[in-house]
Parts: sequence; structure tokens; C-alpha cells
Amino acid sequence: MVTKPSIMLTSSEDGGTMNSEPSPVGYCGLYCGACAIHQGMIRNRAMQLLEVLSAYQFRDIAKEAKEWAPELAYYLQFEEVLQALMKMFGECPGCLAGGGPPVCVIRDCCKKNGFSTCAECDKMPCDKLEPQIQCYRGHLDMLSRIKEIGENKWAKEMAQKVRRGFSYVEVMSGSEVRTDDQD
Ligand code: SF4
Ligand code: SF4
Repeated sequence: MVTKPSIMLTSSEDGGTMNSEPSPVGYCGLYCGACAIHQGMIRNRAMQLLEVLSAYQFRDIAKEAKEWAPELAYYLQFEEVLQALMKMFGECPGCLAGGGPPVCVIRDCCKKNGFSTCAECDKMPCDKLEPQIQCYRGHLDMLSRIKEIGENKWAKEMAQKVRRGFSYVEVMSGSEVRTDDQD
């Protein structure tokens, strides 16, 4: 079994020091920095909503308002769901830093074959990748790009995109705005 190499950040990227960190590229070829969970989107938005609802004392409001909106009878469960989302999907350090699902056939397969990503595999795209391809439009394009320019360069391209506000939410919802560097 081969260990996936870490990425060496240059001085301009990590604020002044040379620093070796786990690669931000998952074995399947996803860029973890563009993931909504990694970016804290679910945690932050659930937290903000809970704060606003609490400030307006919605627990009390819901008790009275359920007469007109019967769904508000479930208001306390709604708060519990938001808290569960924050707990379960609050943060993920990234695939290479121990994040992602505990069992991942793609990660296992790459590790077994000694690949850094599926871009190194002749069998790509295989059945194991199919759910990812269905979920992330352009997944195969990402792997092709990694194959073309290498994982490190691609990670830097993606880091720039993320700095400009990109997240995989856009890809999954189909609302992605194309930018020049995607062509
Ligand atoms: S855990 Fe699996 S699906 Fe998730 S980023 Fe890693 S290789 Fe990809
Ligand atoms: S067989 Fe599929 S999952 Fe395994 S390394 Fe190749 S492309 Fe990736």
C-alpha cells in the first residue's frame, strides 16, 4: 500500500512559511476545499438560523402560531434537526486528513493499487466511480484535468477558484457559473 503524497505549499500560499499538509485532493479526484461541508456551509447556516430564531423567541411564537400554521407544532423537532445537522455535517478535514465516510470503496481501491487518485488508473471510469459521476457534474473532466496537468497544479487551480467563491454546491444544483479558467 502506498501513502498518498502530501502537498507542499509555497510561501505565498500559506502566509509566509513552507508547510506540508495532506493533499486537498480526494482519491476520487474531488477537491475537498470546494465541498460545502468542508467549507462549513451547513454548520454556519444552521447556526445562524438557530441564532435568529432564538433572538426572536420562536419557541414561544411557534406555540401560539401553530393555530394558523399547524406545521409549527413540530418546531422543537426542527431545532433538533438543525442541531443534528451541525453535529453530523459540521466539519470535515478532507479526505486525506481522515474526513469523508468511514467506508469508501474508491479510497480503498486507490490505496490498494497505490494510486494518488483515480486519474492514474487505466480502468477509469469504473463502476465504483459511477455514483460520484452522477452526483458531481464534470467529475470525469476533473480527473482528466488532473491527468493532464498533475495533482499539485490542479489543486492550485481549484484553490484559486474556491477563493473566488466556488463550491461544489453550484455543480450539484446545476447553477454553476462558468469562468474563463474552466474552458
Ligand atoms: S472519501 Fe471517497 S468519495 Fe469522499 S473524497 Fe475521499 S475518495 Fe472521494
Ligand atoms: S478501479 Fe475505479 S475506483 Fe479503483 S482506482 Fe481505478 S478508477 Fe479508481
